[in-house]
Amino acid sequence: MGLRQTLAFLLYEWLDADELTARSRFADHSRETFDAVFDTCERIAREKYAPFNRTLDNEEPRFDGEKVILPKASKDAYDAFAASGMLSAAQDYDIGGMQLPYTVESAAHTFFAMASVSMGSGMLTVGNANLLMVHGTELQKKVFALNEFSGRWSGTMCLSEPQAGSSLSDIVTRAVPDGADFESDPLGPRYRIKGNKMWISAGEHELTENIIHLVLAKIPGPDGKLIPGTRGISLFIVPKRMVDTDGQLTGERNDVALAGLNHKLGWRGTTNTLLNFGEGKYGTPGAIGYLVGRPHEGLSCMFHMMNEARIGVGMAATMLGMAGYHASLDYAKNRPQGRLVGPAGKDPAQPQVRIIEHADVKRMLLAQKSYCEGALALELYCARLVDEQHTGQPASANEARLLLEVLTPIAKSWPSEWCLEANSLAIQIHGGYGYTRDFPVEQYWRDNRLNMIHEGTHGIQAADLLGRKVLMSGGEGLKLLAARVNATIERAIQRPEFAQDANALGKALEQVGSATKSAWATGDAREALANAVPYMQAFGHMVIAWIWLDVALSIPADAAHEPAHVGRLAATRFFFRYELPKIGAWLNVVVSRDPTCADVPEDAF
Ligand SMILES: Cc1cc2nc3c(=O)[nH]c(=O)nc-3n(C[C@H](O)[C@H](O)[C@H](O)COP(=O)(O)OP(=O)(O)OC[C@H]3O[C@@H](n4cnc5c(N)ncnc54)[C@H](O)[C@@H]3O)c2cc1C
Repeated sequence: MGLRQTLAFLLYEWLDADELTARSRFADHSRETFDAVFDTCERIAREKYAPFNRTLDNEEPRFDGEKVILPKASKDAYDAFAASGMLSAAQDYDIGGMQLPYTVESAAHTFFAMASVSMGSGMLTVGNANLLMVHGTELQKKVFALNEFSGRWSGTMCLSEPQAGSSLSDIVTRAVPDGADFESDPLGPRYRIKGNKMWISAGEHELTENIIHLVLAKIPGPDGKLIPGTRGISLFIVPKRMVDTDGQLTGERNDVALAGLNHKLGWRGTTNTLLNFGEGKYGTPGAIGYLVGRPHEGLSCMFHMMNEARIGVGMAATMLGMAGYHASLDYAKNRPQGRLVGPAGKDPAQPQVRIIEHADVKRMLLAQKSYCEGALALELYCARLVDEQHTGQPASANEARLLLEVLTPIAKSWPSEWCLEANSLAIQIHGGYGYTRDFPVEQYWRDNRLNMIHEGTHGIQAADLLGRKVLMSGGEGLKLLAARVNATIERAIQRPEFAQDANALGKALEQVGSATKSAWATGDAREALANAVPYMQAFGHMVIAWIWLDVALSIPADAAHEPAHVGRLAATRFFFRYELPKIGAWLNVVVSRDPTCADVPEDAF
């Protein structure tokens, strides 16, 4: 089944996304306008992205000493994407947006991610501008955010430093007030920033006239020392090129210098940079930065951007998995190899079969389908919750917010792990050919390998889930999730064909709930979190089983024989039979707070 049909089913048959048009914010929209957006994005992805995916991989960005050089296709794709209006798709009409639901915006982005993930579709720029729309002053919104939404400028997020990745409290980039009148700058309190930022995606390029960096830095205390912990962190807008209050370039270069490009395993179409702020390469040492929000509250402002980014990462991982699934499905339908085993063994006189006829190859295809389409459904479900949070009635909006707290770590990490596994299976289906660069699947795997690392590593996401998200507000988010899972179980139990799966899901929910309690039984965080990743794996599998059962329930009984639905029902069955039982092993070590890993002495390795 093509992506477009899968999206149409999930959005319209399962999530009732067209019901959003009953809300005043989306009243001008209809299924037709949503489909028109999909038509445009599908076309741009097909024409400007897909044909150049390998080009980007082969011709990775290089620095000629002055400029970063990217293949011409990058600029063509960027211009087509910006011209489509997708950068401001969700924004208000009065600033040039389309007031598109986030659910539809997310779905539209799938075409680009599947065609060429590293070509990019503005995730960082939109996240950066959205953050400014929430935390910026009116002038910061007008000058910086609006020029990002229009595509004239692009945006970055500068958190990581060479010595501080997961542990942002240890950043050492400094921000000091720039002169006695630093507070009177119309663009925001003006500081001088000095420090190094590592791994900054899209940190340098010539795709846009300017680059707007959002930078985390610490304002020293009265003793001149940096305040330890996250409390000391503030957020600054640091443009690459200086601008005036009308958003015009002043001609002056800000003191942000490219120290080098990182040469990556995959995702090579996006530059990845080490940036030096304030070393004096461009004029007076100290990059000019304008404070966003209040001093010392930078990390919580940045989290606004990071949550969106995490759903975006989950979607990217999903679509890379999907690209591999489609490629390996096509290969399996065309590759003749071997003969089927009958009750009397094989008959060498018979012609060879296509590999899709072998049960083991079907297993690998069904695994990919269940991972990738299940993950896509989860990402769209989360996107629908974002719309609920923004446009629902107060009680429902609050419920959506709490559910998102619990589901965001899963939305980020589950596809990062399992759609990567899907890419590995896609290589396996290609046999030796999959291991060569003559087929696209090895690139999908390399591109996807990033997703368990950035936007909070797997380990950090797991600690966030078990250490914070399932506990916050008295466990309210987890209770709300359990209520939704139970509602699906109640519907499924009425249908004999789903009763077994409903019971299995009920048991899984109960296992996750009691493991959460057991992990925290002694109240010792060291014990509870030692097995946070197996906990997150089990939690994620329970969530995806729930999503699949809910999706399966939306298939009309009289249409269950249609091939697309037969496929969905088979993927549901596969997930319940082959995947869900794995959670027992993962949770065993959580429940017993198994100390094997935590206690092994270093010299035992
Ligand atoms: C291609 C790419 C693009 C990126 N883009 C950006 C960007 O645009 N902006 C930006 O700011 N950053 C970006 N990053 C940085 C990314 O977010 C960091 O790499 C990530 O946060 C991990 O930090 P680190 O690399 O320093 O690894 P470390 O933090 O050193 O982690 C190494 C390992 O130790 C584990 N670990 C660390 N601390 C703990 C702990 N407390 N408990 C358990 N395990 C732990 C981690 O899980 C990981 O497995 C990017 C990275 C890459 C590779």
